Amino acid sequence: WAASEEPISPPVQVRYTQLLINGKFVDAASGKTFPTLDPRTGEVIARVAEGDAEDIDRAVAAARKAFDQGPWPRMTAYERSRILLRSADLVDKHNDEIAALEAWDNGKPYEQAAHTEVPMVARLMRYYAGWVDKIHGLVVPADGPHHVQVLYEPIGVTGQIIPWNFPVLLFAWKVGPALACGNTVVLKTAEQAPLSALYVAKLMHEAGLPDGVLNIVSGFGPTAGTAIASHMDVDKVAFTGSTDTGKIIMDLSARSNVKPLTLELGGKSPFIIMDDADVDHAVELAHFALFFNQGQCCCAGSRTFVHERVYDEFVEKSKARAERRVVGDPFRKGVEQGPQIDDEQFNKILGYIKSGVESQANLVTGGARLGDKGYYIKPTIFSDVQDGMKIAQEEIFGPVQAIFKFNDLGEVIKRANASRYGLAAGVFTNNLNTANTLTRALKAGTVWVNCFDILDAAIPFGGYKMSGFGREKGVDSLKSYLQTKAVVTAIKDAAW
Ligand code: ADP
Repeated sequence: WAASEEPISPPVQVRYTQLLINGKFVDAASGKTFPTLDPRTGEVIARVAEGDAEDIDRAVAAARKAFDQGPWPRMTAYERSRILLRSADLVDKHNDEIAALEAWDNGKPYEQAAHTEVPMVARLMRYYAGWVDKIHGLVVPADGPHHVQVLYEPIGVTGQIIPWNFPVLLFAWKVGPALACGNTVVLKTAEQAPLSALYVAKLMHEAGLPDGVLNIVSGFGPTAGTAIASHMDVDKVAFTGSTDTGKIIMDLSARSNVKPLTLELGGKSPFIIMDDADVDHAVELAHFALFFNQGQCCCAGSRTFVHERVYDEFVEKSKARAERRVVGDPFRKGVEQGPQIDDEQFNKILGYIKSGVESQANLVTGGARLGDKGYYIKPTIFSDVQDGMKIAQEEIFGPVQAIFKFNDLGEVIKRANASRYGLAAGVFTNNLNTANTLTRALKAGTVWVNCFDILDAAIPFGGYKMSGFGREKGVDSLKSYLQTKAVVTAIKDAAW
């Protein structure tokens, strides 16, 4: 697990820590702040304004005014599109600084943020910029002398709540489609990693976004988050986070104004490796599917099902791969894995490892913290995992791979689907018939075949079952930010 000694020193500076409301940075109404921590050390990076219900009220009022009276929903689609394009250009221009902020606040490897996630933010903005002037209605034939139009209108003030695992990318997944459709936004970042969204939101204002269109409130779930979900003047909520919190959001929405929701929740995604697999390739892909982003992915391939004919070789090679994984300071070259986000997640993951050992899964490698500072965990593998074990059923959200043995296609389909989640699945096979069977049988919002975590802007992402509903990205996301209006006009003289 040795990390490279070669440091990377990108520009890094905390510029914005206040709430962004109505185009201006302001303190929280209460004057309160909270610390955001460096996962490498647990030390304070900065204190950030702590938004609460009163701040959400202010932000919603600004977003309401911007929607009802401001230029955003009224400007030409072309103008709106150009603001998103200019935003993307500014993200590119400041790529390294945004990536550094992300690595500092979240603990993910700087190189990952700089080469993958921040460029994906710009790419997604351009993708939705391309949609803006192509969102149009329909004229539908109907019985009788009627001219029937279907109009797609923005919903209004949209509330968005995001988690900490991909702070800047999920910010983009949320605001991109909402803004493309002409909505205004109140977004709450996760309390663990609030910095990068403030930075990019500021860039979007520099790109010409009118005041009040995009408001960012840092703060905690039970206070600021609850205030968004229960607000009577928020017209829609999009949430990404745990299934437990998703249920709370649904409840709050139902009790307030029945706001429509999209929920992207937890997962326990199967990754199925068939016996025709090139084992080396399968090992690498399954390793990536689980360990990417310190294992902190809702779609992580966290149940690795391996055909018994290749099982022993697979386990042995996975062990070697995990032990080669470069774990260390996110600001060093070649680092694949940084620290977990905070002590809460760190302890939770160690608790799951303990549970795996106690339930007599076979601990192949890892199983403990790495070093004595920060939230680093050794890449961990359990083999011979049984379906009933806690580590087989619950979302660990950390660098812990669970390997299961199977010997029959029908059996693995049943076992893979025997989960309350249905976010994603992976399939590794060269057999077209097997691939076709699996892609149709698996109950998951995404099935990756011979690949994993391909998350392009155009590809819809979301869950079956308790992984939520609605889709992020792609054209599907637009649908959840538009209201459908039928306009039926009587035709006076229908004879022509
Ligand atoms: P995670 O386990 O990824 O932190 P959470 O569901 O707890 O998942 O958090 C995801 C987001 O939801 C964060 O922005 C968090 O502040 C927010 N959140 C947590 N609890 C609530 C709540 N009761 N109401 C609204 N938002 C919440």
